[in-house]
Amino acid sequence: MAPALPSLRRAALPGPVIIGGGPAGAAAAIALARGGHGATLIERSADAADKVCGDFLSNEAVAMIEAFGVDLAAASTITALRLVHRNRVATTRLPFTARGLSRRVLDEALLRRAAADGATVLRGHRVAAIGQVRGALRIDCASLGRVDADTVFVATGKHELRGTQRTDRGTGLVGRKMYYRLCALQHEALRHHVELALFPGGYAGLQLVEADRAVLCTLLPAAMVRAAAGRWDSLLDALTDACPHLRARLAGAVPLLDRPLAVAGLPYGYIHDQGPRDPAGLFRLGDQAAVIASLTGDGVALALASGSLAARSWIAGESAAHYHRRLAAGLLRQVRRASVIHRLCLMPRSQPLVAAVCSLWPGAMRTAAVVTRARRLTQIGYVA
Ligand SMILES: Cc1cc2nc3c(=O)[nH]c(=O)nc-3n(C[C@H](O)[C@H](O)[C@H](O)COP(=O)(O)OP(=O)(O)OC[C@H]3O[C@@H](n4cnc5c(N)ncnc54)[C@H](O)[C@@H]3O)c2cc1C
Repeated sequence: MAPALPSLRRAALPGPVIIGGGPAGAAAAIALARGGHGATLIERSADAADKVCGDFLSNEAVAMIEAFGVDLAAASTITALRLVHRNRVATTRLPFTARGLSRRVLDEALLRRAAADGATVLRGHRVAAIGQVRGALRIDCASLGRVDADTVFVATGKHELRGTQRTDRGTGLVGRKMYYRLCALQHEALRHHVELALFPGGYAGLQLVEADRAVLCTLLPAAMVRAAAGRWDSLLDALTDACPHLRARLAGAVPLLDRPLAVAGLPYGYIHDQGPRDPAGLFRLGDQAAVIASLTGDGVALALASGSLAARSWIAGESAAHYHRRLAAGLLRQVRRASVIHRLCLMPRSQPLVAAVCSLWPGAMRTAAVVTRARRLTQIGYVA
C-alpha cells in the first residue's frame, strides 16, 4: 500500500479524492482504477481495524466482493436464520447463501485490492473538513495539509465530516459489538445460522465469522445502555435475562476483545436528497448516501454498490446530482421496507406478534429477506 505523501501539502489532485476506506470507498477506488482512472483514497486508520457491524455478507455483497477478486474462502457460510424472542425460536432457510467475515479482514482485503489495481491509498490521515474554494473542493487534513480536488467521494460511513454533515440526526439507538470463542456445543449449534434476538426497543445478531469466532452485534436504545452504566457485563446480564436462548449460547463463552466496540447516532432510513447548495463535485457513498436497517445485513452491499455506481457515473461524465438521484431511485423501496420491518422488530408491543407470525409461518422471514435486498441497485452498481 502506498505510504503517506508529505508533498500533498496544498497540492491539487487530478483524479477524484475518496475520503474513507470502508467498503464504499474501496469499491469506488477499485472501479475507478479498473476504468483507467487514478484516484487517491484517504483513510484515517493506519492499520486494519474492527468496526461495529454484524459481519453478515449478503449474497449481493458476496457477488460484488468476488467480482472485485477478493477471496472469501476464510469466511463462514450462513444458510439459515433463527428469530429469537424470549423463549420462542423460529427457524427458516435463507433464500440465499450468506457469508460471515469480520470487517477487519474484509475492509483490509478490499483496500489491498484497490492499491493493487492502481489506486493511491493513504493510511493514517484523518480528514477534518471539506470546504469550497473557487469552484474546487478543499479537503482539510492536519497530516496532509490542504488538498484541492474537483471531485470528492465522501465515504466516511457513520462518521460526519465538517462541511458535509448529513441532515438526519439519528434514531437514539446505539450499537455495541463483541467477539467470542463459544463453547464447542454452542459453536456447533450456531454453525450455518445467523440468529436475530429481539429485546425491548432493540435487537442483536449472533453468527460465526472466520477463525471459528462468534460475533455478537447489538442495537439497543441508548437508555438501556445508560441503565447498565455503559458496562458491557451489566448490559449482557440484562440481555441474557430477557433471552434464555442467548444465555445458553454465551454460557462459558470467552470474550475476545478487551471492551466492546461502540457506535451511536445511527440515522436509519436516511437517503441523501441532493439540494441546490450541494457542491457539484461532491459524491456521497455508502452510509453517507443511505442507511438501511441493520437487521437486513445489506449495508455492506449498498456501500459496495454505491461506490462502484459513483465511480461509473463519474467516468461517464454524469453529475453528482444525477448519481444521487439514480442511487435513491435504486434503493428507496428496499430502505423503506427495511425500516418498516426494523420498527416492528423494535417495538415491545409488536415483538410478540412478529415472533408468533415467524413461528407459524417461517416463510415470512424468507419473504422479508427477499424484499429487503437492493437487487436493482446491486445490478446497476456492478463492475465488470
Ligand atoms: C449495529 C450495526 C450492525 C450492522 N450489521 C451489518 C451486517 O451484518 N451486514 C451488513 O452488510 N451491514 C451491516 N451494517 C451496516 C454496515 O456496517 C454499513 O452500512 C457499512 O459499513 C457502510 O460502509 P461505508 O464504507 O459507507 O462506511 P464504513 O464501513 O463506516 O467505513 C468508513 C471508513 O471511513 C473512515 N473514516 C471515517 N471518518 C474519516 C475521516 N474523517 N477521514 C478519513 N477516514 C475516515 C473510517 O475509518 C472507515 O474506514 C451494520 C451497521 C450497524 C450500525
